[in-house]
Parts: sequence; C-alpha cells; structure tokens
Amino acid sequence: MSGSTAWRPGRVHVRAPGKLNLFFEVGDVQPDGYHDVASAYQAVSLHEDCWAEEADDFTISVTGAVDVSGVPSDDRNLALRAARLLAKEIGHRGGVHLDIVKQVPVAGGMGGGSADAAAALVACDALWNADLGTAQLQRLASRLGADVPFALMGGTAVGTGRGDQLSPALAKGRFDWVIVPDAGGLSTPDVYGRLDELRRRRNVDIAPPPRAPAVAPEVLQALRAGDASVLAEHARNDLQVAALSLRPDLRDTLELGERSGALVGLVSGSGPTLAFLAAGPEDALELQVTLSASGRTALHVHGPVAGARVIG
Ligand code: ATP
Repeated sequence: MSGSTAWRPGRVHVRAPGKLNLFFEVGDVQPDGYHDVASAYQAVSLHEDCWAEEADDFTISVTGAVDVSGVPSDDRNLALRAARLLAKEIGHRGGVHLDIVKQVPVAGGMGGGSADAAAALVACDALWNADLGTAQLQRLASRLGADVPFALMGGTAVGTGRGDQLSPALAKGRFDWVIVPDAGGLSTPDVYGRLDELRRRRNVDIAPPPRAPAVAPEVLQALRAGDASVLAEHARNDLQVAALSLRPDLRDTLELGERSGALVGLVSGSGPTLAFLAAGPEDALELQVTLSASGRTALHVHGPVAGARVIG
C-alpha cells in the first residue's frame, strides 16, 4: 500500500463504483440542451477510492491503474466541486485534501468522475460529521451531474429525466461482464451531438427519438429473474450508433467479443469502453482470455455492487 493510501487517523476512506448502462434510451434534445433519457444502470466491481482529510484549502491528487492524465486537479474536478458544494451547504469553514485512486477508465462512459464526486460527498459528510442523510446527499449529487446520484445509490436502478430521477430495480443474483477499456476517451457532449446530427439527417441506421423514453419492461423482468440471456436480448444503448460513428474501429472489438461467446456487446454509456455480458463467471473468464490474447485489455467485473460507502 502506498504512503498516500495507508490508513491514518483523521482520514476517511470511501469507495464508489463505476456503472454500466444496460439499457439507454435517448429522447429528443430539450430546449435547455439536455436530452430526456431512460436508463437501466448497474454498479459494477470497478471502483474509485477516495481518502479525505482536513486541510486549510480544497486540494486533490489523482492517481490510479488507468491513465489519469486527462483528469483536472483544479476546480474543474468533479470531486473537488462536490467537496466545495457540501462545505457550502453545511457552512463548513475549512477545506479538505482528497486522494483519489481510480480504476474506472477516464472519459470511458463508465461514470468515473461521477463516482469520484459521490465518493467525495460521502467522505466529506463523514469527515465533517455533517450526517446529512441519503435524501439530502442525493439532492446535492443531482446538482453535480446526471450520473452522480446513481454512484451514490449503487445496485441496479432505473433513471429517468436526465438519468438522475432514480428508482431502485430488483436484480437477482449476479451478472458477469467483461469490460474492454480504450485508450482514447470520447467526450459525452460530442457523442450526444453526433446522435442529434444522425437523427436530423435521418440516418438509415437510426430510429427517431422516442417521445417518452422508458426502460423496456423485458429488461426489468430479466433483471428480476437474474436471466442474463433475456437481458442480452433486450439490452441496448441509443448512444451506441453515435459512438461507433465517431469511433468505427470499435466495431471490430464488438464483433470479436460477440463471436467469442459474449451474450451481447454494448458501448458503455457514451463510450468508448465496451461491455460484454457473459452467461456466468466461467464464460466471462474465457471471454477475458480470448480478448486479452488479441492484444486488448479485458477486465472481468460483476454487478450489482453497493454505492458510495465509507470503508474505513
Ligand atoms: P459519463 O459517462 O458520466 O459522462 P465518463 O465516464 O465518460 O462520464 P469521466 O471519466 O467521468 O467520463 O470524465 C469525463 C471528463 O470529466 C474527463 O475528461 C475530465 O476532463 C472531467 N473530469 C472532471 N472530474 C473528473 C474526475 N474526478 N475524474 C475523471 N474525470 C473528471
């Protein structure tokens, strides 16, 4: 364990999960520039760790198993913004130093920044003995970004509105996924922009935006039954066509995964991370081996896992 992550008194350690969108339907762009969406989220066992300790100012250091060069360490960092927001809310006068260790690929469509923000909220709440409670933390989370409330909640959930109006979904057992991160990130606004453009051009591959996005009932049934095959049949992501139009090279990996035993391959959120659903742990392991042998990075994760929580 490195010096910065070793246990020290007065430090709070929080862990928050990355997410996959098992189903993502995107409505038309709204006058405020946002899209109405309907999402089935699942929190998976790829985590962000956040240590918080008292400081005079608000500072952050970010390291991790993934390339963190694209992560700002000033006030653009979502975790620092979360800490400042909480301090303002409770009238806390001091600052905080956050140490973040990332496992979730940056700008990969797995909500890593959102998980950092959720972790920072929970860590500062504990560090400053604010004891805000779930509803108030959720309200602050939704002011920080559409995916932050889910990183706080974890498990499996349906999100509507901008994705931040959450209700928990029942999910039986565990689902095994193989994740293929990609070195080049995709900007979420660029992917939405491409989707709007393809829809305006009435691209043949693309259905018109639904008026009222909703998660398909079959997806919810499959989750309740713990049935990966049925889930795979109905899983889909409206952003996939746009992400693939910006990154056509991802198709090769999607095809390889599906040829090599995945029940389905999906672009995760706005991409470029790909997520393959496997029938069980052994199938996931086999798929991971095949994808790794082709020179790609492949990680075996599972869901659902808990949302942001204090672990020390
Ligand atoms: P989402 O799926 O929630 O749209 P993402 O998973 O694709 O997001 P993130 O890793 O959350 O992408 O980061 C998107 C951008 O946000 C990064 O390129 C970076 O500039 C900025 N950012 C701000 N704070 C953070 C943070 N704590 N970790 C990572 N990126 C951050």
